[in-house]
Amino acid sequence: MHKIKNFIDGKYVDPVKNQYVENINPALGEAYSEVAFSTKEDVDLAVAAAKAAFVDWKKTSPKERVHYLQKISKLIHNNLDELAKAETIDNGKPLKLSASVDIPRAVENFEFYAHCLSQFGERAYQTDERTFNTTYHSPLGVVGLISPWNLPLYLLSWKVAPALAMGNTMVAKPSEITPMTASLLCQLIKQAGVPDGVFNMVHGHGAEVGAPLCEHPDVAAISFTGSTVTGKSIAQSCAKSFKKVSLEMGGKNPNIIFADCDYDKALKTTVHSSFANQGQICLCGSRIFIEESIYEKFKNDLVDRAKKITVGDPMEANTKCGAIVSLRQFEKVLTYIQLAKQEGGKVLCGGEAITPKGLEKGFFIAPTIIENLDPRCRVNQEEIFGPVVTLTPFKNEEEVLEWANSTEYGLSATVWTQDLTRANHFSRQLHSGIVWVNTWLNRDLRTPFGGVKSSGVGREGGDYALNFFSEVKNICTQY
Ligand code: NAD
Repeated sequence: MHKIKNFIDGKYVDPVKNQYVENINPALGEAYSEVAFSTKEDVDLAVAAAKAAFVDWKKTSPKERVHYLQKISKLIHNNLDELAKAETIDNGKPLKLSASVDIPRAVENFEFYAHCLSQFGERAYQTDERTFNTTYHSPLGVVGLISPWNLPLYLLSWKVAPALAMGNTMVAKPSEITPMTASLLCQLIKQAGVPDGVFNMVHGHGAEVGAPLCEHPDVAAISFTGSTVTGKSIAQSCAKSFKKVSLEMGGKNPNIIFADCDYDKALKTTVHSSFANQGQICLCGSRIFIEESIYEKFKNDLVDRAKKITVGDPMEANTKCGAIVSLRQFEKVLTYIQLAKQEGGKVLCGGEAITPKGLEKGFFIAPTIIENLDPRCRVNQEEIFGPVVTLTPFKNEEEVLEWANSTEYGLSATVWTQDLTRANHFSRQLHSGIVWVNTWLNRDLRTPFGGVKSSGVGREGGDYALNFFSEVKNICTQY
């Protein structure tokens, strides 16, 4: 069985203790490879390699690094088919999605930061005729990048590209549930000519690899994307040594549909924002609030569409919804559906596991829509992260605003109305880092990305990430 090894100092290596654990294909429910079960010793080796490589890497010019970023982008593009297939086998998402969204976005992440770096200017301030200030951005040193399983290469590359751009060396720790494309990225980075030790990867679990990486005294910053529970523990660990930390965490995003919306567009997009990637996108709208006067019609149309979604083999071209990423996640989602029933919810469609032919051991759940739940019940407050949405009718702006803002999360929100005065006024009152009006998941990579409350600390994207991955110094000179 293929072994997914660590990548340290430019070489694929076994973990020090030579332990591996099974890596599961969620559509088959079977192991198809093994992934390194690393420990603190491996983290120490990777950080040491990154620290040694930093001595020369920090001296590279922006122009040189732009060149490396462009090369990596091109190599990912050239290997798109292989990477998309690997992502789908590892994660369970439809191949069509991997090939049209996940891997192209990884291509774009490197391309974007190549452009961004080439335009990134430092500042000068003239205090008076004889006094000048100049600000310099220096790399931080060794940085730790910890990423989740839902968009494996997409989100890892979203961290690697700005970290490399600013001249840092790094240790990446991808999710143990989806390590495959991350592992393939290592060889592409090597092929691009990035010097050994600049980019390292240690596979394994959070407690054994993620935690020691956060605690390591030679790691200057941690960029994390994952659950709020893990983010909390990372924040506590990093606080001890005042490490810089960026946290992109969970969400329970409201999707608010006013009666004056562009109905067809709102309906079509809501199907997508509810069930794309099996509902396992941190930006999916899981709480759908619909203005009373169109509630029944919108509900019936949405349920009709959801019932037509093809759930099945992620490798098939017409599959819209693939497998849930792991047995644990599969069981978690089913438990929340049970809880919804206990809380008085009425399941309008889905609500159960399904077994596509030939994939009887896989982890599949039908797109599920539930109504009749209190906005403050657990199902409406806690992140489920699966193909499950709830519907709630609302009377007016005040009511829906209160419900929308009632969770501990604040990542994104979607608002559907043709009244742009209302859209603007309403959006500004929503507790979330991102609001989409009459669109969803429409990303301009220059914009700040991140959440408020328990959804995030800091912002990724554009200059925000370049600032995070650098230290700013001001030098004031009098002539
Ligand atoms: P997770 O928190 O379980 O794991 C994320 C990563 O952290 C993994 O690599 C894991 O091994 C590592 N980790 C676990 N414990 C750790 C510890 N104590 N110290 C350091 N690292 C540790 O999250 P997940 O289940 O992989 O991903 C799903 C979650 O990610 C959801 O909550 C989702 O909303 C969130 N997410 C957020 C965004 C965003 O941009 N805000 C994007 C994608 C996913």
